[in-house]
Amino acid sequence: MPNLNNKVALITGARRGMGRAHALTLAKYGAKVVVTDISQGECQQVVEEINKQGGHALALKLDVTQKDEVAQVFQAAVQKFGRIDVLVNNAGIAEFQSFLIMSEEEWDKTLDINLKGQFLCAQAAAIQMKKQGSGAIVNIASVAMGQQGIGLPNIAHYCASKGGIAALTEALAVELAQFNIRVNCVAPGIIETPMINTVKSDPKTFEAMLAQVPLRRAGKPEEVSELVAFLASDDSSYMTGSVVVIDGGWLAG
Ligand code: NDP
Repeated sequence: MPNLNNKVALITGARRGMGRAHALTLAKYGAKVVVTDISQGECQQVVEEINKQGGHALALKLDVTQKDEVAQVFQAAVQKFGRIDVLVNNAGIAEFQSFLIMSEEEWDKTLDINLKGQFLCAQAAAIQMKKQGSGAIVNIASVAMGQQGIGLPNIAHYCASKGGIAALTEALAVELAQFNIRVNCVAPGIIETPMINTVKSDPKTFEAMLAQVPLRRAGKPEEVSELVAFLASDDSSYMTGSVVVIDGGWLAG
């Protein structure tokens, strides 16, 4: 069981889906958790669940594309809990669009949230972690990040953003190791969250996707959270720059 006692973790996109599961799991392992998303009200509900478990948490509104908001949220988190040991760069969107009619606005929106958002939050976290002399950043990519032997149609901007996250992880791991900051990446396959509702609304497509997964099911958010907790904890102290796939065997199949 990873030990996150005395650690403070900030998670983006944590009002629902995997981010919510990461918040609850990291709190279960002892971390104080800063639950952030674009809706503070729903973050507060996650905080209340953590409080019920006997944990400590804080809800803050954070749009990861807004540099000023990122700075304010990290400042408020440090004011409340004194430090930031873990960042889970989780916020993301997946909006389907055929490439031939994809607009510049659609491209920019996805790249801004999925990739620029991770840059802004990782930079704010690393500045604080450098002062502390340690830290762990966990970036969330996807099996759609490219070079994995699968290609997904109608989601080119998403795939490009996730490929960027894998590259960002490697670059930051090399650059931030001197400050004892580890940077790793989790690349999930199909996970049961509101994000996959569009795919599920077409049962044939969804079944065809699951047919490629040797475990024949979508993953549960909590299954990904266990990996995130391991990468956030000192149990993974010799891991940095790794991109870890968690996909029910999809890429191996
Ligand atoms: P969800 O859509 O359930 O959760 C993502 C959360 O991020 C939502 O609450 C969303 O809010 C929020 N968000 C969107 N834009 C911003 C923003 N600008 N600032 C802060 N938060 C924002 O998705 P998942 O839990 O499934 O996804 C979590 C991560 O995992 C994402 O990075 C996703 O790409 C990745 N992933 C998911 C997979 C899956 O199968 N579910 C597979 C592989 C990777 P809102 O709903 O209002 O947009």
